[in-house]
Parts: sequence; C-alpha cells; structure tokens
Amino acid sequence: ALQIGHDLGAALVTAGALERERNLVRELQQIDDHRSQLIATLSHELRTPLTVISGNLELLGTLDLDPQADRYQQAMNRGTQRMGKVVDDLLLLARVSNPQHPLTRVPVDLRTVARDVVSLVESTARSKGLTVTVDLEPDGLMVPGDPVELDRLVGNLVSNAVKYTPAGGSITVSAARRAGEVVLGVADTGLGISEDDQEGLFRAFFRTTNPDALREPGTGLGLAIVATILERHQGRVEVGSRLGEGTTFTVILPAA
Ligand code: ADP
Repeated sequence: ALQIGHDLGAALVTAGALERERNLVRELQQIDDHRSQLIATLSHELRTPLTVISGNLELLGTLDLDPQADRYQQAMNRGTQRMGKVVDDLLLLARVSNPQHPLTRVPVDLRTVARDVVSLVESTARSKGLTVTVDLEPDGLMVPGDPVELDRLVGNLVSNAVKYTPAGGSITVSAARRAGEVVLGVADTGLGISEDDQEGLFRAFFRTTNPDALREPGTGLGLAIVATILERHQGRVEVGSRLGEGTTFTVILPAA
C-alpha cells in the first residue's frame, strides 16, 4: 500500500508539472500571436502615409529645384525608399507567418521563377562586374505553391548573393529534380558567413557581425521571409558557407 501511495504521489506531481508546462506553452503562443498582430497592424498603418510621402517627394523631384533643395529631396527620397522596404518586408513576413493566410497551390515552374529573378538582378550584377551563371534542368522543375511567394523566396536569395558578393565574383543559380523533390541552389563566391552567424541567419532582424556585410543596406528580414515561405510549402533550406570564400543556399521543395 505504501508503494502504491508513493507511485500515485509521483504521478500527481508529474501531472501537475505537465499542466504547468502546457499553460506556459499556451501563454508563449499568445504572446507570439500578439507580437505578430502588433507588427502587422503597425506596418499596415505606416504603409499609407509612406505612400503619400514618397508620391509627393517624387512630384517634388519633377520641379525645377535649386541644387540644395534638390539634394534634400534626393536624401529624403532615399530614406523613404529604405523605410518603404522595411515596411513592405514586415507586412510580407506578417502575412506569410499568419496561419490563417491562405496558401495558393498551383503548379509553379521553378525554371521560370529562377529566370525571371535573374533577369531582374542582371543589370546590378553587371554593374558590379559579377558573372551570373544559370544552370536549370529543362524539365521536372514544377512545384505546387504560391507563385508570388516562390518568386520572393528565390528573389531574396539571389539578391543577397548579388549584394554580398564583391566586384568580380560569380553567382550560380541551379535547379534539378531529385526523386520527389526539386533542389534549387544559389551559390556565390562572396563574403561568406561565419559558423556562429549561420545559427541566427533565419531569425527576423538578424544581420551578421561581419562589418563588410553590414556596409550593405538591409533589414535582416529577407531570410526570415525565405524560411517562413519554405515552411508553408513543406520545404527546407540548407546553408554551406565559409567566411571569405562564399555561400551556397540549397532549397529543397516537394515536386509537383
Ligand atoms: P538583409 O540582407 O536585409 O540584412 P537577410 O535576412 O536577407 O537580411 O540576411 C541576413 C544576413 O545574412 C545579412 O545581413 C548578411 O549578413 C547575411 N547574408 C545573407 N545572405 C548572404 C550571402 N549570400 N553571403 C553572405 N552573407 C549573407
């Protein structure tokens, strides 16, 4: 009887601990939901006045301003564009992080996505003296998903490669079918990412400690968006990188 009483007592203690743990998880989930909601509302509220400011700044730029006023206008324009990028990234992250946000599922050709993305960065890459190689299998690169989100996913990786690769380097965008998956690679010969920094890479607002990378403008939201979009598409991402040598991001998505 003593043994049974002892076992019962231990079971009750365990049940109590489990209940407390469950409550804690629920509370943390609520805090996280509130935080996401706050970010979504704030960025939404900021978008409208920002559009008004940048529209009027653009109009101001068409006037015959004296050189000093012209410089002020250009500085304000740059600042507003940067702020717009942060707000747009925040809005997108809030949208794709919201479990209630519906995911479109249509067959998307990653070959087309990769080509479109590369054509968008071509002129920036050329002006930096970067070589961009595209190596895409002709068939079997269809994945089910949201075309806009997949475009953003590949776009963020390729624009990072362009941004964090010094002049004269090279970038390779490749895609191939492996069994039931499509594997897309974005490789660069750029700054690279230290092992310590690789750990935080996909967290919102994370920027590496590398001073050369910090010289480039950025929000630290690009890779958080990549990770969230991948989660929604049952995909995953792997990073291979060596500081000073380059980085390869490998994205794996279920094939259509
Ligand atoms: P952002 O580029 O706006 O800072 P990201 O979330 O896209 O934000 O990237 C987070 C950080 O990861 C960047 O600040 C940069 O330091 C590092 N990073 C991302 N891609 C690369 C890359 N291809 N090569 C080197 N560093 C990179």
